[in-house]
Amino acid sequence: MAARQPGSALRRLVGLFRNEVLTERWLLLGSATALGGEILFKTLEPWPLKFILDSVLGQGATGWPNGWTAVSPGIAILLAAIALVLMTSGRAFATFLNTLGFSIAGNRILSAIRLRLFEHLQHLPLAFHSRARSGDLVQRLGRDVDLMRDVLVTGVLPLVGNMLTLVVLAGVMLWMEWRLALVAIATLPLFALAAVKLVPRIHRAATQQRSREGKVAASMTETLGAMKLVKTMGLEDTVTGALARNENKNKANDVAGRRLAAQLERSVDVLTAMASASVLGVGAHLALAGSVSVGDLVVFLSYLKSALKPVRDLAKYMNRLAKAAAAGERLLEVFEYESDIRDADDAIPAPPFRGAICFDDVSFSYDAAVPVLRQLSLQIQPGERVAIVGPSGHGKSTIASLLLRFYDPTSGSISIDGVDLRRFQVRSLRRQINLVPQDSLVFGVSIAENIGQGDPTADQDAIESAARLVNAHDFICQLPDGYRTILGERGSTLSSGQRQRIALARAALRPSPILILDEPTTGLDAGNRSIVTDSIDHLARNRTTLIITHDLALALCADRQIVLDHGQIQEAHRHAIAG
Ligand code: ADP
Repeated sequence: MAARQPGSALRRLVGLFRNEVLTERWLLLGSATALGGEILFKTLEPWPLKFILDSVLGQGATGWPNGWTAVSPGIAILLAAIALVLMTSGRAFATFLNTLGFSIAGNRILSAIRLRLFEHLQHLPLAFHSRARSGDLVQRLGRDVDLMRDVLVTGVLPLVGNMLTLVVLAGVMLWMEWRLALVAIATLPLFALAAVKLVPRIHRAATQQRSREGKVAASMTETLGAMKLVKTMGLEDTVTGALARNENKNKANDVAGRRLAAQLERSVDVLTAMASASVLGVGAHLALAGSVSVGDLVVFLSYLKSALKPVRDLAKYMNRLAKAAAAGERLLEVFEYESDIRDADDAIPAPPFRGAICFDDVSFSYDAAVPVLRQLSLQIQPGERVAIVGPSGHGKSTIASLLLRFYDPTSGSISIDGVDLRRFQVRSLRRQINLVPQDSLVFGVSIAENIGQGDPTADQDAIESAARLVNAHDFICQLPDGYRTILGERGSTLSSGQRQRIALARAALRPSPILILDEPTTGLDAGNRSIVTDSIDHLARNRTTLIITHDLALALCADRQIVLDHGQIQEAHRHAIAG
């Protein structure tokens, strides 16, 4: 991933999340008002001190307000002390309100963003998911969003407050004593110089670290998901070694980022001291010459300290800000992924299908250099059962992916009931097609919930009838918790034949006129194969069915067999295949 400037990423992020931010506008506005109160109190805070120094200790030499001459010094000191306590309490309360308000808003905004990201991921095309690594995506959903939230709540929002304080205080300082203010402002280019030198390097280190952490998470997820393979092949040391190497690189990136940020922070400390010393030097001369009072000088130095705080904070938070910017860019990468498969502006909801499928001169390739389907034409009648056989890697599953519009053909067209698929809204199309994939997927929830995913409105009776239809009811009842049995992740606690039948029961529940079965009997023993074949026979009734298979017996159950060879069709008769 190329390192972009944080500024441009920030602009794109703000644009992308405008709605989430706008939803919290009242809370943000309230917090901003409290922030204004904090700045106001902060500006007033040094004034009681000036009053004591100039008007009481300096015996009213300067600035004793009209009518105050009658007040005794004791009362004046008491009033100044009370004013100081009130102002500090007011500031503390305003700070409390804006910190709380900004934290709540930040949390809500980032939670909404996480939900939106999760939803967005589900709408991204298969072309994205077949390249993405799930561990890395989980890292983006989890840690990257968390990083942005932490920095937004504890870094960016206070920083915005501090920057506003800087502007207000700079204005007041110019108004109070422009010569001293100019001395302070003259040091600012030095701060900019230090930042220009170090910030891009900090950003680069943070970007590399985020991307490496994504890779580490991805390989950990892959390893944990393939524990059986790791154990059988004795890969424990190999995978741990690879992880350790990545972790070391990760650590090096982190240290580099922290070192650069510490360097920036120390440079800013020195520059802050230089700015204060210059103001103190010039201010003391002006005080000696009688052009400013001691109180003015003290107030001025106190303002300078407050005004330089945001600059120091910026340096302190730079490493975290850079990490958050890198995290934000990783979110942008996902949000800005351009999908080829989306509804046309005039797309219509698919009407209930009869199930006539037509591939007309369809060519397709995942990668332009390697054609997968070549000018393929195929017509299937409503309710017909067609088996697609042929060598591995010749495009059988690709036919299913095109029918579900996971991809669009490079040329030619595919239609259902005479209407091009691209005319339909994608979701309404997929709702009417039932795919039972090769690696029959089940979730780590109960069996009833797994089957029920076929039709969320189905009740227990409907679920059991679906299970009966595909010969799954008996084995489910023999499990200790029956339909309430919670499955292991990816159904690891079931045999492959049982997993397959759960997937078939889910398909049976789904009222769809088109059924696609991708290698439904692969890896099953003879007994299970015949049970699943029998289940498919029940399931395929009244549905247009495509069975992708290497299983001769299953292929022969279909009305028609098609051989796919190098992306082209050779229609075959049942005796030709059997022979
Ligand atoms: P079959 O089902 O006949 O075994 P597939 O349709 O799965 O074959 O694959 C056809 C060809 O397309 C293969 O060479 C495979 O490597 C390639 N292929 C399949 N899926 C993808 C993908 N998501 N990205 C790139 N190439 C793919």
